[in-house]
Amino acid sequence: MYDADLSDEQIMLKTTVRDFCRREAPRDKIAAMTNNGETAHVDALYRKMADQGWLGIGVPESFGGEGGTFVEELLVVEELSYGRAPVGGHLTTSILVHAVAEFASDQQRETLFPAVVAGDVMSIAITEPDAGSDVSALRTRATERGVGWVLNGQKMFCTNINIAQWVIVVAKVGGQSDDRHAGMTLFLVPTDRPGITHNRVPTLGHVDTNAVFFDNVEVGPEDVFGKVGGAFSHLISLLNTERLILGAYSVGLARRALDDTIAYVNQREQFGKPVGKFQAVQHTIAEMAMKVYAGESLMLRVGRKVDAGVATGQEASIVKLYTSEAAKEVTLDGMQMMGGYGYMMEFDMQHYLRDAVVGTVFGGTSQIQKNLIAHQVGL
Ligand SMILES: Cc1cc2nc3c(=O)[nH]c(=O)nc-3n(C[C@H](O)[C@H](O)[C@H](O)COP(=O)(O)OP(=O)(O)OC[C@H]3O[C@@H](n4cnc5c(N)ncnc54)[C@H](O)[C@@H]3O)c2cc1C
Repeated sequence: MYDADLSDEQIMLKTTVRDFCRREAPRDKIAAMTNNGETAHVDALYRKMADQGWLGIGVPESFGGEGGTFVEELLVVEELSYGRAPVGGHLTTSILVHAVAEFASDQQRETLFPAVVAGDVMSIAITEPDAGSDVSALRTRATERGVGWVLNGQKMFCTNINIAQWVIVVAKVGGQSDDRHAGMTLFLVPTDRPGITHNRVPTLGHVDTNAVFFDNVEVGPEDVFGKVGGAFSHLISLLNTERLILGAYSVGLARRALDDTIAYVNQREQFGKPVGKFQAVQHTIAEMAMKVYAGESLMLRVGRKVDAGVATGQEASIVKLYTSEAAKEVTLDGMQMMGGYGYMMEFDMQHYLRDAVVGTVFGGTSQIQKNLIAHQVGL
């Protein structure tokens, strides 16, 4: 229904990922694969994705990747989200691999790209207990020692560090300054670097969410990711990529909720006929379909502009805001259309809803996206 404006190759890619999810992670096997939801990332499954070449889409061919387009990356994220494949590490890694292409040193690229293509996972630690939407309020410090620094501080809500081999952390170097962005620097470090510890933070949905502690973690000039003091502008670019990838995640989730709802209302009978024959149900589902269509169209339009090098930050915010709010509405409507069964843990709609809600928070809340859009239209 929504594939009309894709090329044959893009349709083939989507179909192949969809079939992979159905074959390798069918609904009745996911509980066993994930140890009853203890993890959202099954390494063996992720390595099978590596064999398909999908982990190298954002990696240049000269580093063993596919050198694919950003639209292809979005389509893979969308289908993995639709297919509910337990490969949670893909989301953060596919965001961060673009930052590697953009800011990393040659040495970091030589290490990171082949590792990511083979199945390594990357994570990012920006948020702190007292610095969420206001990133520049961060307190994690990198204090100079010899030719390098030592990192001390605490991060919050770090997705996937518990399964990742790499973490990008933002810290402030240098003394106090009136400029709140001064000294903000990204460091790329292996997660097993001495002094890094993490605890899982229980949430409504995501299981691989963590508080992270940096206790005298030694970092050298070779660990700087981008420029010393350059993190604020690096993060603007990184977060724009993140907002588009998270948009693809929300689109896949909403499309899955729509398809499950249609299947349910076609088979559930009340008053002697399928509930899908009632106009009130049909109208709700028509609105759900409209939101999925609009979200997918927006995602593709801006994805194509990224590939053409003409996308703006405002467009990334629009995609993130629209698709995440739409996914929340669509999954909630899907639950209502299923009556009491939508509320049961045995059905998946409650899981889709819980995963959709966080889409309006991580990567910058909906309120922050509205601030950014309003600012960019001159307010
Ligand atoms: C499951 C999960 C995974 C996450 N993964 C990561 C990760 O991997 N790495 C990472 O660094 N972070 C991660 N985050 C953190 C996420 O990005 C932050 O939660 C988010 O940016 C909001 O920060 P906060 O929670 O501190 O909320 P706050 O910033 O305290 O906001 C509280 C409320 O105030 C509103 N608000 C704040 N400032 C303004 C403003 N200027 N104008 C209008 N409204 C405003 C917000 O919209 C929100 O409604 C994750 C969060 C969750 C829940």
